[in-house]
Amino acid sequence: MSTSPAATALDTALAGLAARMKRPVLLVALDFDGTLSPLRDDPDRSRILRTGVAALRTLATRDGVEIALVSGRALADLYLRAEVPVGTHLVGSHGAERGVVTADGVESVAVTLDAVQQALLDKVGAALGVIARAREGVWVEHKPTAHVLHTRRASVVDAELAIAETRQLAASLGTGVMRGKDIVELTVVATTKAAALTLLRHDVGATTVLFAGDDVTDEVAFEALGPADIAIKVGTGSTKARYRVPDPEALCQTLRYLAELVAG
Ligand SMILES: [Mg+2]
Repeated sequence: MSTSPAATALDTALAGLAARMKRPVLLVALDFDGTLSPLRDDPDRSRILRTGVAALRTLATRDGVEIALVSGRALADLYLRAEVPVGTHLVGSHGAERGVVTADGVESVAVTLDAVQQALLDKVGAALGVIARAREGVWVEHKPTAHVLHTRRASVVDAELAIAETRQLAASLGTGVMRGKDIVELTVVATTKAAALTLLRHDVGATTVLFAGDDVTDEVAFEALGPADIAIKVGTGSTKARYRVPDPEALCQTLRYLAELVAG
């Protein structure tokens, strides 16, 4: 062992590498809405299930387990309703925002938009506002890197018209478009849950990943998993995931069972 600064840094890196060789790391990455929390007509009422809070707290105490929430929600919003243990990785806005839960709150990597992206975001927000105001039950959620049109409380006809107009808007402005359950999101930062999951896997040095999600935006993340990983679809609908559970409660029970399995 050398005492020069460069060699000390190398020694530290090698020690980290050796530790990772000895210790498999399981990354448990989870979508939030419809996965840990039952879907609500009003997304503001979404809360993580109590069984989920307990299961994640137990999992967080296990050696070699890293927990992450990977959501379309804005990071600050995700943090407020998730009630997850310290050390949990939070990925918001489908990967555009990242942070880690600390004892004092959430330590996040600041999102910075360049002038072009900011101007585009403002334009999208204003235009979506016009679309939403013309339809009963349609509203717009504003996020740091995107705006989201919600149609869950609208009639089928109004929802379809608003979604069609939103798609046209996206095409004319050249924004990214993400379609989820009763939402269309127009984003000015190109990102997907698949890219976010790949980044997380690298950051935590995961040797295996379990990912669970319920929506179409989770399908790209399922596709990014390898043969040793576990993909779990929550609820009905076609999926690339190998496994399926019926609802968020069942997923939380599965997490509790996993915590028991990795205890020993
Ligand atoms: Mg979801």
